Amino acid sequence: MGKITGFLEFDRKVEAYKPVEERIKNYKEFTVPLKEKELKDQGARCMDCGIPFCHSGCPLGNLIPDFNDAVYRGKWEKASEILHSTNNFPEFTGRLCPAPCEEACVLGINEDPVSIENIEKNIVEAAFKKGWITAKPPLTRTGKKIAVVGSGPAGLAAAQQLNRAGHTVTVFERDQKAGGLLRYGIPDFKMEKQVIDRRLKVLEEEGIVFNCGVHVGIDIEADELKNDFDAIVLSGGATVRRKLPIEGADLKGVVQAMDFLGQNNKRVDGIKDLGNEIKATDKDVIVIGGGDTGSDCIGTSFRHGAASVSNFEIMPMATTDRPEDQPWPFWPMRLRTSSSHKEGAERFFSISTKRFVGDSEGNLTGLVTSEVEWIKKPGQRPELKEVEGTEKEWKCELALLALGFTGSEKTVAEQLGLELDARTNVKASESDYRTNVPGIFVAGDQRRGQSLIVWAISEGRQAAHHVDSFLMGESKLPLKGEGDLPRI
Ligand SMILES: Cc1cc2nc3c(=O)[nH]c(=O)nc-3n(C[C@H](O)[C@H](O)[C@H](O)COP(=O)(O)OP(=O)(O)OC[C@H]3O[C@@H](n4cnc5c(N)ncnc54)[C@H](O)[C@@H]3O)c2cc1C
Ligand code: SF4
Repeated sequence: MGKITGFLEFDRKVEAYKPVEERIKNYKEFTVPLKEKELKDQGARCMDCGIPFCHSGCPLGNLIPDFNDAVYRGKWEKASEILHSTNNFPEFTGRLCPAPCEEACVLGINEDPVSIENIEKNIVEAAFKKGWITAKPPLTRTGKKIAVVGSGPAGLAAAQQLNRAGHTVTVFERDQKAGGLLRYGIPDFKMEKQVIDRRLKVLEEEGIVFNCGVHVGIDIEADELKNDFDAIVLSGGATVRRKLPIEGADLKGVVQAMDFLGQNNKRVDGIKDLGNEIKATDKDVIVIGGGDTGSDCIGTSFRHGAASVSNFEIMPMATTDRPEDQPWPFWPMRLRTSSSHKEGAERFFSISTKRFVGDSEGNLTGLVTSEVEWIKKPGQRPELKEVEGTEKEWKCELALLALGFTGSEKTVAEQLGLELDARTNVKASESDYRTNVPGIFVAGDQRRGQSLIVWAISEGRQAAHHVDSFLMGESKLPLKGEGDLPRI
């Protein structure tokens, strides 16, 4: 299995990006695909390790050496079957995953790791192109009805798995279209929305009903769902935004990142009447927060035609290499530079925003920062200390707050009498995803807090298994790493 000498013969190669000047003119994806021969060579780099650490690094337990080998041999349909046996939506993870599998790849110890994520994307794209991904409704129905609340990757994965088991699934989504943060958080230049629509069409053809524009807890009492359905899966995400309660935070021009990104994605989708327009055009933009959300604000600001874009991060700059205390195969906290950062943003680390400054009409004109240092004390969390004499004022007409999320919304949990954990997410154990109320399950960011798409899909699949067992006494739906071949 595999090409024994592949990793010696071929260097790692991934997709190139279109030039910055060209790609920031629109919101389209901007990667340049590899040729088939190049992809096969990348598959050939996999050593088919006896103990494939990539497999355990992946939250879905993807059968990575198996699909790498199939790609190397040009057996794309087989590769797609293997990939879909553990991952409902590789087109999302193949574009957007930070690829913990690659950080765990054995080849990564002294070489560049296998380009697993890019291989994954190309397998699923080939499968859609060839028409191998078609609706596969269940042959029989159980008569059990399940409500899934929230249509992000966790809800969609749970819905597809439960539908496969023969249950009748209705997905409730408060937004106008399904997809969760994939649709109204992540910009089109990272994933065009037809990628979601294409998959939703398959799910609908399989028999899943989508009730969009319905806010559970407001438009329908959560209790009503309890009466009408045999089980409920909550997958509403962790959407409560962290605030920055400092002087001037209410000035016009201090904006939550998700308001900026959500509005832009709707504009790109052709939706009109979006209320107060939030645009970065000709402005000096400062994005406060260095994660994925911050990075997406940077790329979006450049596409608006911002005069300048700076990015502030309160933590010190990480190293590009693995830190010594985070050895292979663990996920390392190293400096990550996204394609948006490379579009021209200036990054500043160990910097804290002290106050916003405005004009007499309440418009943001600047902000004041100071440098900070983190004091480490044995056995304690590092302490933040301002560095004296480092105060600085910056010109800025748009400050985007990308400070993360503090937990999930409470309305539905309160209406259903659900316990929350210390981080205000809905409490359920990873062993069975059950809340304290029988028949109600929770998966994805609403259970684990703000996380990753790959975890959301994994949790949706796992929760589906436990819902099915709850309803039927047992379940054939696969758990993590157990493929359910053949399925596309
Ligand atoms: C800007 C941004 C960029 C990101 N980029 C990446 C990335 O590149 N890679 C990555 O892996 N992860 C990324 N993430 C994280 C990732 O998007 C999330 O971890 C993932 O989407 C969580 O999936 P989920 O299904 O649990 O919840 P969500 O995707 O948040 O979906 C929850 C859905 O539930 C709906 N909902 C909530 N309450 C109700 C209710 N009461 N009634 C009806 N509907 C309801 C919401 O409207 C939403 O559509 C990013 C996050 C953000 C904010
Ligand atoms: S760890 Fe890397 S080289 Fe080994 S099987 Fe997985 S992808 Fe292949």
